[in-house]
Amino acid sequence: MIAKIAELVNLGMAKIQSIELPLSSKNSNSVDVLRLDKIHSIISGNKWFKLKHTLEEAISQRKTKIVTVGGAYSNHILATACACKKLGLESIAFIRGEQPRNLSCTLTAALLHGMKLEFVPRSLFGNKKELYDLIQNKIEDGYLVEEGGMNEKGICGAEEILELVTLHKYHYFCCAVGTGTTMAGIVRRSTSFQQVIGISSLKVGPSKNELNDFLLASVGGKNNFELINDYHFGGYAKYTGQLIAFMNELFATTGVPTDFVYTGKLFYAVSDLVKKSYFKPGSSILIIHSGGLQGNCSLPKDTLLF
Ligand SMILES: *Cc1c(COP(=O)(O)O)cnc(C)c1O
Repeated sequence: MIAKIAELVNLGMAKIQSIELPLSSKNSNSVDVLRLDKIHSIISGNKWFKLKHTLEEAISQRKTKIVTVGGAYSNHILATACACKKLGLESIAFIRGEQPRNLSCTLTAALLHGMKLEFVPRSLFGNKKELYDLIQNKIEDGYLVEEGGMNEKGICGAEEILELVTLHKYHYFCCAVGTGTTMAGIVRRSTSFQQVIGISSLKVGPSKNELNDFLLASVGGKNNFELINDYHFGGYAKYTGQLIAFMNELFATTGVPTDFVYTGKLFYAVSDLVKKSYFKPGSSILIIHSGGLQGNCSLPKDTLLF
């Protein structure tokens, strides 16, 4: 049976949970978590929000083939594969890099969801516009979804995340940042006396300005946000023993599972920032748990307690 986009996930599961963060006892900040990880195990967290309007448009244009782009650990790739399967759409992904001898578990799962994978030399990822043109020429009848769902419809979908919370309750919204699409949506929907803190999972370096410019351009001149680049733990999909120990402690003390690519770094960062009195005394913080737990399948067995 073919599902509708709204039926792909269970938004009723997106509960708000109050927690005490590890590392940061005795502070005056209150911390809530929006558990978007609970809405679906694969189309989890922010990915459904970022894809929903794009997939709606594809279906309304009677497209039957979704084409997208990403890396070997991309939650976006797997979420797209799973959503397309349930919606009765074909899916094809162009994956960055040569085909490895052993596929990552994320890509293996995408294959199991019926996605076709094509590997593309890294050099072609330098210029996204050219890459997208190339892909569109190759698959003319495909509906192209940009890497990581990074488009205007993705931002509009991400804005809807804040419809699940009592907006005025919070002084700060904290989220994990890859492309910045989700953060752009959160900034748009926030009021200008609230602050949005984005924790980059990538070592952004010189492209930090690019990301900042993307955010500024996407949010119509609002500047109530800050991008923090100090908690990437070595870069995208890199991790350290300290991060893993933190994720285990967080789970043991709060029951909140996180992933090592995005949300583990996000929660670590917020704990550390609370400890360092980054947030105004007495303020309330909402951490947006953007899901992605399936990515932990690429960690060695028994690394995590959950
Ligand atoms: C994809 C992803 C992000 C990054 O979202 P962007 O909109 O690309 O910034 C954050 N958290 C998780 C769990 C993700 O899977």
